[in-house]
Amino acid sequence: MARTRDEALLYLDLHPCECGSMETDWEKSTITDAGGLAARYGGACAECGAEREYTFALPNRETFPKGWPTYGGAEPSQLLDAGEWLLVSDRVASNVPPDAENAGHALSMARAAVEEVLKFIPEDQERVPDHGFWTERGVEFREVEPGRFRRERLEVVRDTYLDLHRELNRAPRPDQSPAPDQDASQDRGQDAPQDKRQGEDAPQDKRQDEEG
Ligand SMILES: [Zn+2]
Repeated sequence: MARTRDEALLYLDLHPCECGSMETDWEKSTITDAGGLAARYGGACAECGAEREYTFALPNRETFPKGWPTYGGAEPSQLLDAGEWLLVSDRVASNVPPDAENAGHALSMARAAVEEVLKFIPEDQERVPDHGFWTERGVEFREVEPGRFRRERLEVVRDTYLDLHRELNRAPRPDQSPAPDQDASQDRGQDAPQDKRQGEDAPQDKRQDEEG
C-alpha cells in the first residue's frame, strides 16, 4: 500500500529496472483491483525499453500532501521499512547539492525520511520494534547500526536537518546581488512554522560583471 504519490515514487526509485536503470516515465492510472481502488504506475524503461508496472493499494483514508515531500500520515509505511527510510535519509543527506534550492529539497527529503522512521516507534517505546524491519537491506542496516534506530538519536538527526534548512533559508544566496543590510542575525529560528516552501521562484538573475 502506498499512502501517497511521493511514497510510491520513492519506492519506484528504490526498485530499479532489471537492467539497473531507474529512469522510467511513469504514467499513473487509478484502477479497481480486488474490489478496491488501486494506483497503477506503468511505463517503459528509458534504458532498455522493458515495460514496467507496479500496482499499489490505496489507503482507506487519504493523506493530503502538506508540502513536498509528503510520504504519509501518522501511520507508519507499509512500503518501505524503517531501515530503508534511514538509508534514504542518509543517502540524500550525504549528497546535498550546492545550490540553495536543490539543497533545500534534499534537506526536506532527508528530514521527512527520518520522520518516517520515527513513526514506527510506538509512543511508549524508545526504539523501532523488530516488526519495523522486513527488507533485506533494512534488517542488515539495523544489524550494523542498531543504535541509530533509537528515538532520541533519530530526533537529533531530524532536528539537525531542520536547522540546516533554516540556515539555508536565511543565508544570502550567492547568485543574487548582495543586499546592503542582511538581517541574518534576526532571531526567528525556534518558532518558525513547519511550512516548507519549496521552489519560491528565486529569480535566476545572475549578475556577472565580466567586463574585465
Ligand atoms: Zn531497463
